[in-house]
Amino acid sequence: MKKKALWTIVILLLIELILVGVYFTKNTSQNKKLKTEESSILAKSSSREIKETTTTSETKPGEIDTTDWLTSDTDISFPILMYHSLTVSNDGNTLKLPPEEFKEQMEWLKENDYYTLTPEEAYIVLTENKKPKEKIVWITLDDGYLNNYTDGFPILKQLKLNATINYITSKQDNQYYFHQADMEKMKHSGLISIESHTVSHLDLNTLSDEQIHTELLDSKKWLDDTLKQQTSVICYPAGRYDDRVEKEAELTGYKLGLTTEPGYASKNDGLFALKRIRVSPGFDKESFGNYLTSSNQYANN
Ligand SMILES: [Zn+2]
Repeated sequence: MKKKALWTIVILLLIELILVGVYFTKNTSQNKKLKTEESSILAKSSSREIKETTTTSETKPGEIDTTDWLTSDTDISFPILMYHSLTVSNDGNTLKLPPEEFKEQMEWLKENDYYTLTPEEAYIVLTENKKPKEKIVWITLDDGYLNNYTDGFPILKQLKLNATINYITSKQDNQYYFHQADMEKMKHSGLISIESHTVSHLDLNTLSDEQIHTELLDSKKWLDDTLKQQTSVICYPAGRYDDRVEKEAELTGYKLGLTTEPGYASKNDGLFALKRIRVSPGFDKESFGNYLTSSNQYANN
């Protein structure tokens, strides 16, 4: 009797062991299955991540695609338009241009299929002698007046034209000039480049070497840091510069220098002595077009 009971207990224990064993085996294999699925999902997502990263690195932001550009045997010269304040002048100040006239001129450029250059593109045109298929122009506005942001930017945005504003970096708290937030908004549109017009708009050729250095370097550094960019253009206040200024501009890390001398820009004048076309009030569309296309006559003087 005792023996029978013992056997029964042993058999029951064995059955229990088998049941427990089956349960564990099943669970482990399920776990394995889950784990495999999980890792395959992970593998899939990480391969997608890699793919995305690869795609991003193929099209580097800011890289200029010049595959469709035309190469020229002779030096390419082109107009750099020079604007200042976009407002109606009550005092006969010829540096002020009514926004309506600015709009007409921008429309003329658009209607006549002009390609508006960025500073980076202008540099390639000047140094590599190649250009987009279209006629080219570089639109520049000096000083950084608030009306460039309130009146000029909407026109440029509407017509999808690129322009460069040369900013005086000491004007950040001045009510007549645009500020950092406006600057960032314009830059992020991809249409407006903000470059340097020095810190305090002094005639650079009258300054000591050290002052020139500070005016050029501090303005560049502020723009570089604030807009996370490599500022490459220096626009000389009132167009005043000399050999020392040109040399210092290059040493400080600029690539191009803009003057107020009239004519088309050409590398013959030197990359730090580029001529521009000053736009005064009073043009209608047609006379603006004639003025722009005939201003190259100064280029060879
Ligand atoms: Zn100026």
